[in-house]
Amino acid sequence: MIVVMKPEAPQEAVDEVVKIIKDIGYTPHLLAGEIQTVIAAVGDGREKSRIESMESLKHVEKVVPILKPYKLTSRETTPADSIIKVRDVEIGGKHIAVMAGPCSVEGEDQIIGVAKSVKEAGANILRGGAFKPRTSPYSFQGMAEDGLKLLEKARNETGLPIVTEVLNPRDLELICKYTDIVQIGARNMQNFSLLKEVGLIDKPILLKRGLANTIDEWLMSAEYILAGGNRQVILCERGIRTFETATRNTLDLSAVPVVKSKTHLPVIIDPSHGTGYWQYVGDLAKAAVAVGADGLMIEVHNQPEIAFSDGAQSLKPKKFATLMDELRPIAKAVGRTI
Ligand code: PEP
Ligand code: MN
Repeated sequence: MIVVMKPEAPQEAVDEVVKIIKDIGYTPHLLAGEIQTVIAAVGDGREKSRIESMESLKHVEKVVPILKPYKLTSRETTPADSIIKVRDVEIGGKHIAVMAGPCSVEGEDQIIGVAKSVKEAGANILRGGAFKPRTSPYSFQGMAEDGLKLLEKARNETGLPIVTEVLNPRDLELICKYTDIVQIGARNMQNFSLLKEVGLIDKPILLKRGLANTIDEWLMSAEYILAGGNRQVILCERGIRTFETATRNTLDLSAVPVVKSKTHLPVIIDPSHGTGYWQYVGDLAKAAVAVGADGLMIEVHNQPEIAFSDGAQSLKPKKFATLMDELRPIAKAVGRTI
């Protein structure tokens, strides 16, 4: 339920509503309202009538139900677009965020070299995996803390904030010492214990869509994070499994307008994992900007042919720079900058 306070409601009246919500066993979430205080009361549906009866309080304007199961993620509770701030970068505003870098951090020369070239081309966030979710246990699993240290070094040299993936709640504290954005990969989208953990931290979370998950399931996963108190969630569509084998995944570009109609959270597109082949990445990146994505995640490697992971879908720095130039007029045409 959403409790909308009257514009002139004093703080004590807001405190009283918060107390009643807590006493009933619900969780109050204060939402940003331009003129009025709005409080979302989130619970399991029991004692709903006691929340509804708060409409009779002097300073309460109305109590309205939240129809969607993803209460805090829904546009019903937060009509305005959320903008997520990471150091001096904003995700969800007019400027399209570009997260670029290798699939895996492989060594100092590689990550620093790629970081410098993507920055030069106009990317504003550096990506790189230090803990890698691999299909085979014999494949490269990532450099772990050594990789995180190299990402930190790359940030120090370029000023680019970093995004890296957490696979296991056990590594979260360590990863948070280094990273600016914590990535939850497609395979962990419904790892509810991991979602609960990242709901408790004060860092933006990049939540990738699961390989075989519906948009509503994806938004319910975002809800786990918001319900824990962390409202800084960025959604990332990275392709889903279909019968098609010509591409690694089927990139669901329709997810952008659909998700934007349902939630206030920013949505970005990953055309690298979405297609699996560098040859298609540029065209899908352009389509993503045209369809209204708030950002892109693109894999870039200085020597894709010898990359430890995902070389086939990685752009060389020069191709990435050309793509950035080609994206600018498209961004302008849809009222954005890149
Ligand atoms: C990645 O970003 O390198 C990655 C493993 O992504 P996904 O979870 O989308 O497969
Ligand atoms: Mn990858």
